Amino acid sequence: MIADKDRIFLNLYGRHDWRLDGAKQRGAWNATKDMIDAGRDWIIQQVKDSGLRGRGGAGFPTGLKWSFMPKEVKDRPHYLVVNADESEPGTCKDRDMMRHDPHLLIEGCLIASFAMQAHTAYIYIRGEYVLERERLEAAIKEAYEAKLIGKNNIHGWDFDLYVHHGAGAYICGEETALLESLEGKKGQPRLKPPFPANAGLYGCPTTVNNVESIAVVPTILRRGAQWFAGFGRPNNTGTKVFCVSGHVNKPCNIEDAMSIPLKYLLEEHCGGVRGGWSNLKAVIPGGSSVRMITQEMAEDALMDFDSLSALKSGLGTAGVIVMDKSTDLIKAIARLAYFYKHESCGQCTPCREGTGWMWRVLERMAVGQAEHREIDLLLEVAGQVEGHTICALGDAAAWPVQGLIWRFRGEIEERIDRYRLGKPHVLGAAIAAE
Ligand code: SF4
Repeated sequence: MIADKDRIFLNLYGRHDWRLDGAKQRGAWNATKDMIDAGRDWIIQQVKDSGLRGRGGAGFPTGLKWSFMPKEVKDRPHYLVVNADESEPGTCKDRDMMRHDPHLLIEGCLIASFAMQAHTAYIYIRGEYVLERERLEAAIKEAYEAKLIGKNNIHGWDFDLYVHHGAGAYICGEETALLESLEGKKGQPRLKPPFPANAGLYGCPTTVNNVESIAVVPTILRRGAQWFAGFGRPNNTGTKVFCVSGHVNKPCNIEDAMSIPLKYLLEEHCGGVRGGWSNLKAVIPGGSSVRMITQEMAEDALMDFDSLSALKSGLGTAGVIVMDKSTDLIKAIARLAYFYKHESCGQCTPCREGTGWMWRVLERMAVGQAEHREIDLLLEVAGQVEGHTICALGDAAAWPVQGLIWRFRGEIEERIDRYRLGKPHVLGAAIAAE
């Protein structure tokens, strides 16, 4: 477990003052001018050296992403856009950062924008996050009044920051759909290339980063890249906010070092699995959009990008969904399938048709009303959706289904067999019997 002094988010639980005075006492806005005076090359190099990888799900190296922006500003302005459209099921880390530590994010926006020569940044916040938007706007107002940002601010880099409130569509968390929505259009992903660093917001060079990726930057620069790189394993460095939900005794958001064992995370921070570790059935470790892992796999899994991808799952947003033995996994994945069907923007056929098709089959399988051969058919359709769409929502819809079939095929088969014997599965029976 990391020491309290090594935590970046010192007000994650909202026990202290979120306003400017409180944030300053915790270290925010300290030596910001020195960082800016050190120059943009120094900032980008520090972020690269820290090993920071994007915290929104994809895990792309943040410093490298910044370096893709044009070196010189020509006829088009540069923009930073912060993706605060946190809508991944099982994920609520950015929410707590924005409502309890908004100044870390604002300071990070200034520094990142300076590094990429952007005078304007937008925070695109999820439609349902009303309190968080109000907090952010209040904190931004404070920063303007204290001349920390704005024209002729004390840091010497003119900078405007706007909060844009989304309307509640999951797909707007995809970076190009987010840009479309920010431009006032329907939130539908764009084909890439061109990538946003070349043609992003209003066709101008733009970098889109997750809230956590930006909010950790000021502390990395204050404490040094090597400090941050000292946590975790090579290629999986830093501290990370994990959000754990489901069948644990104390669901929580917790900042700890990257690469901590999943078992340690659940046992030490979350009071253990409900009914004990042996009662664990499966874990979806990265928000809903990754393949679930079994209890045996969870035993040794490390909470980082490489460990979980080696298990053919993923760290994603680090939204850990824990399911004990009372869970009806088929019904749970059917519910997720409904979510992806509902949120598909409909642009590409495999996603538009495939998500609905998978959901309908899973709903039948949840009661056992299916044929054995349909399991392989479902797997094949999931494989046809995966990797054949404009954006990653197709993969996000396919992977939970694959995880279920790869790892719990026997449950589906058993349920089909019982249905044939005239013993249809009654949904919720396991929970009711508890
Ligand atoms: Fe839209 Fe789905 Fe295609 Fe993404 S994969 S662009 S959500 S239809």
